[in-house]
Amino acid sequence: MAATDPDCLFCKIVAGEIPSTVVASDEQTVTFMDINPATRGHALVVPRTHAADVLAIDPDDLAAVARAGRQQARRVMERLGADGVNLLNSCGADAWQTVFHFHLHVIPRYRDDPLRLPWDPAPGDPEEIAGAAGQLRGEA
Ligand code: 5GP
Ligand code: ZN
Repeated sequence: MAATDPDCLFCKIVAGEIPSTVVASDEQTVTFMDINPATRGHALVVPRTHAADVLAIDPDDLAAVARAGRQQARRVMERLGADGVNLLNSCGADAWQTVFHFHLHVIPRYRDDPLRLPWDPAPGDPEEIAGAAGQLRGEA
């Protein structure tokens, strides 16, 4: 995979060809503000090297994004007065991914913000849970 994909929005943002509001950057990552913020301070951390998603990203870049994401999480707590933070990544269109350059959402959370869990936590069928675990362990 080339370091940059000429058709990729976030590669263009990393290269400065499309404007963005950058908060932080290092050798491997750039952290910039999301243009459709879920809450005040919502930002995205991306690797400088193009990779479509969590399955494709170089592990070392993934580690760099995780480090930068934690720094950004600290910033939103300390400087924006957030009460919490969600780190979110979507892999695949069916998992809500819309931009296919890996990114970690850093979403500040505030006590009274309007965000809600997208599922209703309810106990699962224990046999079904065990069945899924068996498949994940590679059993028949
Ligand atoms: P996804 O849906 O793939 O998890 O997240 C893509 C994110 O990129 C969305 O939250 C969307 O608001 C953000 N986004 C899309 N286009 C742009 C853009 O041109 N600039 C910035 N800063 N964010 C963008
Ligand atoms: Zn890209």
